[in-house]
Amino acid sequence: MNFSDSEIVASILKKEGYVTTQNSNEANLILINTCSIREKAEQTVRKRIKDLKKNKQANSNLIIGILGCMAERLKEKFLEEEKLVDLVIGPDAYRDLPTLIKETDEGRKAVNVILSKEETYGDINPVRLNSNGVTAFVSITRGCDNMCSFCVVPFTRGRERSRNPNSIIKEVAELNKLGYKEITLLGQNVDSYLWFGGGPKKDFLKLSAEKIANAIDFAELLDMVAKNNPTMRIRFSTSNPQDMKDSVLQTIAQHDNICNYIHLPVQSGSSKILELMNRGHTREWYLDRIQAINKYIPDCGLSSDFITGFCNETEEDHQLTLSLMNKVKYNFSYMFYYSERPNTFAQRKLEDNIPTDVKKRRLNDIIQQQQKDSLFRNELAIDKKHEVLIEGLSKKSDNEFYGRNSQNTVVVFKKKNRNIGEFVNVRINECTSATLIGEII
Ligand code: SAM
Repeated sequence: MNFSDSEIVASILKKEGYVTTQNSNEANLILINTCSIREKAEQTVRKRIKDLKKNKQANSNLIIGILGCMAERLKEKFLEEEKLVDLVIGPDAYRDLPTLIKETDEGRKAVNVILSKEETYGDINPVRLNSNGVTAFVSITRGCDNMCSFCVVPFTRGRERSRNPNSIIKEVAELNKLGYKEITLLGQNVDSYLWFGGGPKKDFLKLSAEKIANAIDFAELLDMVAKNNPTMRIRFSTSNPQDMKDSVLQTIAQHDNICNYIHLPVQSGSSKILELMNRGHTREWYLDRIQAINKYIPDCGLSSDFITGFCNETEEDHQLTLSLMNKVKYNFSYMFYYSERPNTFAQRKLEDNIPTDVKKRRLNDIIQQQQKDSLFRNELAIDKKHEVLIEGLSKKSDNEFYGRNSQNTVVVFKKKNRNIGEFVNVRINECTSATLIGEII
């Protein structure tokens, strides 16, 4: 999401005549797009700012700006805490950047952290940054209305709103024309996508019966994007268990160009912890959604997010997480230990009562379980043919390419005479828990 937002910012500034540089010593403006999701992400940003001290000493005209969630969370306080920073801009205020930069030219510090109910940057065609020319992100919603008790996102990115489908279709068509072969539709909760003319999703039920009947949901959006771009691969992230409907699964099954892969974060395998997390689903509901996925899309790749050591998590709750993993056997997962975030419900009302060494040990347990399950899944791919989109040179050898199959697993193979951006059929010969290794056939 931040990567995609940085492309919107680059587009806004390009219109004003700004150009990018790969060398920070040449830059007169450095913008850092920040994340607040865990404390560690914020520490990384603080360190990056300290590293820029030498740039500021070497160039007295240098302006340093902080974008994104940390800007939104800390507001003016950021300027007090970090003297090197000149600009603080929240995720809904990027159109104001050129004006704010001018203010700093006059020696003032500038802040805009106003959250919007409508802003989706729908009309802005993002400048692709560090692009491989093959895969691109397309934002479809902004903000989040879910209010998971551990999560800072609703406070830093505001209320959920969806982007006009026409502007999404236009952006994807332009990417197609430029030779891109795969797009990922992005939102905090893509299943909640709903276009009814714009504005916050919470206002939907206040609309007229006619407007409600004509609204476009995520299944319909997916169908439109897939039909309009039959030669492009379509992915999306993130799905949400409480909102994922069968109609979305049926749409995936109907279109060869929608990848058979779903990222469906569960966070915990214990219904007690899911309730404390205010996730809006139980273990049973989640497993029912997994069953529905397996019914409609039998070879679907699956991944999840997990948090260990959330408030009041017992050893029994932890074992329930491990047993859920064992049942689902995810292809891969993103795993974290709980990090208390300011102003969230959990911070205000629950006690962060699991010692760090226990949080870390439980994290280690689920990482080990995931490695076993990833290997199990990857071994099932051996001796089978996979369609792979070539994305670039493999990290280990210039004689090899890497790409991903429909299930989103990385595949490495000898180049032969093929090129980046082509689809190839690869037979898998061996694997590790992270990678499939094969040859073009
Ligand atoms: N919107 C998605 C969802 O609802 O699942 C993902 C949001 S978040 C950017 C990505 C992941 O970070 C979450 O799924 C969760 O596992 C993790 N996360 C969020 N808040 C956290 C916290 N306070 N401590 C540790 N991990 C956290």
